[in-house]
Amino acid sequence: MIITRSSLDISASVEAARQSQRAALRLHFTGCPECGRALSIAEIIERHCENCERDIEPRTMRAERAAA
Ligand SMILES: [Zn+2]
Repeated sequence: MIITRSSLDISASVEAARQSQRAALRLHFTGCPECGRALSIAEIIERHCENCERDIEPRTMRAERAAA
């Protein structure tokens, strides 16, 4: 099997994209404007915060500190 130079470059750029995507997720998250908690995908879709037990408008937030 011959691994070409170009296929190595492709997997390297895919990995780089994956890492920058992870970095973006660390910096920004979709959270509840009331309690500031990061929302689950289901909560974002339903626009409902399980913590506040009310309907909210999901907001993109910048993570000030590392998530627990
Ligand atoms: Zn909330």
